[in-house]
Amino acid sequence: MSVLAEPIEQVKTNSLEQHWMPFSSNRDFKNAPRLITRSEGMYLWNQQGDRLVDGSSGLFNVPAGHARKSIADAVHAQMMQNGYTAPFQLGQPTSFEFAAKLTQIMPEPFNHVFFVNSGSEAIDTALKMVMAYHRANGEAQRTRFVSRERAYHGVNMGGVSLSGMVKNRETFPVVMPNIVMMRHTWNEENAFTKGQPETGAELANDLQRFCETYGGSTIAAVFIEPVAGSTGTLVPPKGYLERVRQICDEHGILLVFDEVITGFGRLGKPFAVDAFNVMPDIITLAKALTNGAIPMGAVAASDQVYETITEAAPENAIEFFHGYTYSAHPAACAAGLATLKIYEDEGLFERAAELSDYFLDAIWSLQDIPIVKDIRGYGLMGGVEVHPLPGKPGIRGNEMQKKLFWNGCHAKWTGDTAILAPAFIAERSHVDEIVDAMRKTLMAE
Ligand code: PMP
Repeated sequence: MSVLAEPIEQVKTNSLEQHWMPFSSNRDFKNAPRLITRSEGMYLWNQQGDRLVDGSSGLFNVPAGHARKSIADAVHAQMMQNGYTAPFQLGQPTSFEFAAKLTQIMPEPFNHVFFVNSGSEAIDTALKMVMAYHRANGEAQRTRFVSRERAYHGVNMGGVSLSGMVKNRETFPVVMPNIVMMRHTWNEENAFTKGQPETGAELANDLQRFCETYGGSTIAAVFIEPVAGSTGTLVPPKGYLERVRQICDEHGILLVFDEVITGFGRLGKPFAVDAFNVMPDIITLAKALTNGAIPMGAVAASDQVYETITEAAPENAIEFFHGYTYSAHPAACAAGLATLKIYEDEGLFERAAELSDYFLDAIWSLQDIPIVKDIRGYGLMGGVEVHPLPGKPGIRGNEMQKKLFWNGCHAKWTGDTAILAPAFIAERSHVDEIVDAMRKTLMAE
């Protein structure tokens, strides 16, 4: 019998532990299941038929809104035409078409994309691409990677190694060697700064210190989320990314921007590269690539990275010894093409930019609520942080996520921070709905 057809009491006891849920407590979920049975546009409906406004556009990956017909139709048509092609040494037209469209909207030197199935795979692929690049360049001694405290780069072993989250270190102690962490850029002094903080650029000099300590010629790459998302929307201080780029240039280090969240208009420009005017060498993408319809990620390589790797390989040799059975899956490529068409036809990146001030003002209206500790934001991405329960970081956030749900709004919470990131189709009234539900939930604490 379907979970939905069962009386709720039955569902609770019988059916909710066979699926071991990601980043969740199954046992807790079982006690009060929150099942979404329908979604459309800005809204979700739960199994009781309650309507919720989606404050985080899924996991920041549905900027065109839920259940877009043109994407579903494109996927269906593709599946009926050609549902799968083995992607090694064999191709299908949709992936080339999608790559061509995608590189058209990307910053100029990014003319090559390697398709994967998630953000985590994009990160591990980027790590390998960096290694392949230095090897091709005669610099295989560059084996050290630099990441940052409070970074989140997915859940595969490369990404876990790069992630600066204590929980990862405690739970999965065996990680890649030779990774050093720069400090994160949040500090109390900059609390409630809208946009980029004025101070903190000097934190980029951590990278300079690593070059002096380990030798710049041993460092392969720096991985950076231009705005750290999954650890609470940490906006880079003015001048910080520029300084990181400068140090990378001085020492031949590659710069990787993890744009899994910031890519595709989230910051009010197509990519963080456009928002901050700093050019990396590699960009990782996922999430909004297919508007959440089909799992997909991508790694975009600059001409220099691509050409260095491909030109170094002997004739007919495999240039980049890497790939997945589902790399460039036809259904995902079809979804991606239909998604980019929506972004373009509906001017959604511009719409995100237009809505940004209203959105940021709306979330800043929560700043005087006593339990609010900080608010941060850029574009259509905001973090509302509450004071943790004494000695129990993250517990209050976890509880508040559930309370917010029952108050009619879905938002992703990370630790004690709600990450608000509405879809770009949102009207001002949707932003109001999200912020009103947040206010009600915060005030009740
Ligand atoms: N990098 C960043 C910056 C992310 O925010 C995420 C997901 N939140 C990932 C990588 C991993 O993506 P996925 O969950 O698709 O593997």
